[in-house]
Amino acid sequence: MIPIAKPLVGDEEKRAVADVLSSGMLASGPKVKEFEERFAKYVGVKYAVATSSGTTALHLALLSLGIGKGDEVIVPSFSFIATANAILFCGAKPVFCDIDPKTYNIDTDKIEKLITNRTKAILPVHLYGQPADLKPIMEIAEKHNLYVIGDAAQAHGAEYDGKKIGSFGDVECFSFYPTKNMTTGEGGMITTNSKDIAEMARSLENHGREKTQWGYEHMRLGYNYRMTDMEAAIGIEQLKKLDRFNDARIKNARFYDEELEEVEGIVTPYVMENAKHVYHQYTIRVKRKKREKLIEIFKKKGIGYGIYYPKPLHFYPHLRKFAHEDLKNSENVADEVISIPVHPGLKEEDLVLIVDAIREGVR
Ligand SMILES: *Cc1c(COP(=O)(O)O)cnc(C)c1O
Repeated sequence: MIPIAKPLVGDEEKRAVADVLSSGMLASGPKVKEFEERFAKYVGVKYAVATSSGTTALHLALLSLGIGKGDEVIVPSFSFIATANAILFCGAKPVFCDIDPKTYNIDTDKIEKLITNRTKAILPVHLYGQPADLKPIMEIAEKHNLYVIGDAAQAHGAEYDGKKIGSFGDVECFSFYPTKNMTTGEGGMITTNSKDIAEMARSLENHGREKTQWGYEHMRLGYNYRMTDMEAAIGIEQLKKLDRFNDARIKNARFYDEELEEVEGIVTPYVMENAKHVYHQYTIRVKRKKREKLIEIFKKKGIGYGIYYPKPLHFYPHLRKFAHEDLKNSENVADEVISIPVHPGLKEEDLVLIVDAIREGVR
């Protein structure tokens, strides 16, 4: 069986966790601090705050900007469910924007007409590892005085105009779930250049704690969204390997690009000229009937695959009330995408087997 995703954890991670366990300092300690400092440096920002997951990173990012009841956040209608849920956690309203069917990211031409006097932020997702088209997003945000919160749960190490994702906008959110480009088991990270946002996120993730003249006091409603030192120790080792992991993903993607380009009925991933795509997923597009045939063959041959995502967000029961007319691209794309294994654990013979299976499937 060739899995669709496979975390690569080596002796370095095992040793690092064992060291933390021996140290007796298991919750947020020196490893969390070190991981935050290394991650901020890698991304090229002043501050990073480690969290318990990508979902809690998104929730904290929104809360740290003061987004709450009555506020609207513009978000693509094609993403993982957590992107929209985090907006609901705050009591705010997700305003769905359609996607560009070429990049699968938010269609920047459709953002402005969704802006109302309640809009507080734009929340682009860098889906599958390709950056959203940030230049027009930043321009729209500036013109209308909106925050930009990025969902980089799939885009560790991706770049836009030669700069790392995580260094654009007001705040960026990462996930370290085992299927992502790097992992800590469960875990997440917020990156920002704003001291205020970083301090607020740090307080909110730790029961609203703040240092006062009396010591630590609970100054606001907060949560426990902290990362543990075991997780951070894994993260430090994974971060050292991230560029290598991404290089392997890109190399696998290039192989697929070349082999699948001429195969009729298959649309390979489009990459923007000014973007470094890090292929959290290698996602192809085929007509629905052919997708069913492909799935049959993948199952027969023991090839893992994933449909990310089978539905646009506004098709889910608790999000249906936010649906509107102009979301057709996300609806069509959901019927036609299928992701094939691209992770760094693949061998050349796996890639060949997968390409042969696809050729057979679309014949
Ligand atoms: C994985 C993911 C999340 C959530 O991250 P968790 O760590 O699983 O909570 C959010 N958004 C996107 C786009 C994701 O892929």
